[in-house]
Amino acid sequence: MKTKELIENLRTELREHNYNYYVLDTPTISDYDFDIKLKELQELEAKHPEFFDASSPTLRVGGEVTKNFETVVHEHRMYSLDNSYSKEDLLDWETRIKKLVDGDIQYTCELKYDGASISLTYENGNLLKAVTRGDGVQGDNVTANIKTIKSIPLQLKGEGYPIKFDIRGEIVLPFDGFNKMNEERIEIGEEPYRNPRNTASGSLKLQDSAEVAKRPLECFLYNITGSNLNIKTQFDSLEKARAWGFKVPNAAKLVNSIDEVLEFVDYWNVNRHDLPYETDGVVIKVNSLQQQEELGYTAKAPRWAMAYKFKAEQVSTILDSITYQVGRTGAITPVANLKPVELAGTTVKRASLHNADQIEKLDIRVGDEVYVEKGGEIIPKILGVDFTKRIHSSEPTRYIAHCPECGTELVRQEGEAQHYCPNYNGCKPQIIGRIQHFISRKAMDIEGLGGETVALLVNEGLISDYSDLYELTKDQVIPLERMAEKSADNLIQGIALSKNIPFERVLFALGIRYVGETVAKKLAKHYKNIEAIANATEEDLVNVDEIGIKIAESVSVFFGAEVNLNMVNRLKQFGLQLELSEEQLIGQTNILTGDVIVVSGVFEKVSRNELKKLIEDNGGKVSSSISSKTSYIVAGSNMGPSKKEKANKLGISLIDENEFLQKIE
Ligand code: AMP
Ligand code: ZN
Repeated sequence: MKTKELIENLRTELREHNYNYYVLDTPTISDYDFDIKLKELQELEAKHPEFFDASSPTLRVGGEVTKNFETVVHEHRMYSLDNSYSKEDLLDWETRIKKLVDGDIQYTCELKYDGASISLTYENGNLLKAVTRGDGVQGDNVTANIKTIKSIPLQLKGEGYPIKFDIRGEIVLPFDGFNKMNEERIEIGEEPYRNPRNTASGSLKLQDSAEVAKRPLECFLYNITGSNLNIKTQFDSLEKARAWGFKVPNAAKLVNSIDEVLEFVDYWNVNRHDLPYETDGVVIKVNSLQQQEELGYTAKAPRWAMAYKFKAEQVSTILDSITYQVGRTGAITPVANLKPVELAGTTVKRASLHNADQIEKLDIRVGDEVYVEKGGEIIPKILGVDFTKRIHSSEPTRYIAHCPECGTELVRQEGEAQHYCPNYNGCKPQIIGRIQHFISRKAMDIEGLGGETVALLVNEGLISDYSDLYELTKDQVIPLERMAEKSADNLIQGIALSKNIPFERVLFALGIRYVGETVAKKLAKHYKNIEAIANATEEDLVNVDEIGIKIAESVSVFFGAEVNLNMVNRLKQFGLQLELSEEQLIGQTNILTGDVIVVSGVFEKVSRNELKKLIEDNGGKVSSSISSKTSYIVAGSNMGPSKKEKANKLGISLIDENEFLQKIE
């Protein structure tokens, strides 16, 4: 088969798999096989840049970095929606529109997805651009980020789509993915995200599209806009969008009256709690596009549509007590223990109070009757206190001054909301939490050892930090609860096997605050071994790409502590990987250290991505924009004229790919 054909076949096949998996939710191939095929395509494309295609499935992994998002004027304005809250509101609306159009009115009812709106432009079946709503007139071009969302087709399926059209939808973050992201944040000692909506809309404006690619975002489509669309009704447009490969939730329903609209509202007001994503209401749209046109728009919203907002469910209950939890990093979280109450389909017993400021702001006291709401947040929120019911003898809540677990006096750093227990080495939940993090799947992935066993081992005095794991013997663990010959063997073997885990994951496992997976990778790649990281000064660290002051401080605090250095030394003696392996070091040099290099244009011998990797492997830094800090530009053909002009102005030299390859020879 010709290479071109091979590439095209792979693209078609991978597109179909993406569609099955992300739009239909019915994969027909294993993740593993998918990855193999994707890799194959990536390699072919790298070797043959002449077959570049902006809608190739390989572009889904992201990598493009945008510093400033370009402002784009919407060809068709993105309107807001009018809100209604009752049957009366809806009947009023119907009366108003009946005066403006002839004939019966049918309505399409849809769920109102709670996320960030987006406008996608397609031309000849290909995704051309993706723009945020902005102020409705103009938004930000976030195409590179949007391409990483796998349920958005880069190329349409089927036929009959207009040559050019805009399709609007909502970018949402389903609960499952949101919770997983938060687990990971908590693991690295970061505050969890508050709600899926803000996290989804924040994701659109991340500079690094590879970061967006990691977020499990979805896009639900609900409106097609353009001229000569050959579509007659809203309901029809949803079905067409579905046929062209877009994800359109099945809840949409065509109805004939406001009473039926209300049935839809009532149904979803209850059943929305079973949906895997957030909805905050229903959107009702006049079905006929002809009637829509007659109705037109007010300054702010279409006359032909109306949102019906679900009431955020609220109840009141008694605050029984406030307890304080200590996390792995020593952060204290106050928790409100409530008299159990039914709310939005679940029994609520607890709510987070976040921190001392929040408690003070609400003036919340034990014994108070409090209002609890389950809105956008997963964890119910306390809105306030019913002061009319306050008992006279009640006293203001005094935030604890000492750790509930170890009694150490708490500290609170300038500018931080959270209190911390500083007893790093002697506070049980911190010790246990750190070891649990160490053994977790993304860190040392120790098979045969779980979180509960870790707690048991610590409580029995068998280990007091993670380096102790490597001295455990079978005889020591057999007497433990629920241990048997076999499980003890597995545990010891699992620990021994973890000595092969690569350096960057060991670094992540150490549990240095703010050093998550990505940062650990960056540090490992840059410094190559643990000594170099331990010896790096803060200024040194900040100079590493993407390492900010917060991370730098935290790393140097960690390695500034004697206990940690000892622990790391022990890990080394036990044979853990504390430097990059020979394999990882192949092709790595320091030839380009200190160079800040911009890559621009199209190349013949190597792909752009390969070029960037070569720069990094040889110690250089890739930058996406030309500035006075740029050392030189590796320029291929088709370098943009404005870039050329800028380089000229700043007196920055251009070299071609051959010169560059010679440099690193
Ligand atoms: P609001 O932000 O309250 O003005 O509501 C308008 C927003 O609701 C729109 O900009 C859309 O982003 C969003 N929305 C969510 N689901 C739908 C839907 N099914 N139809 C139309 N708009 C929707
Ligand atoms: Zn403590």
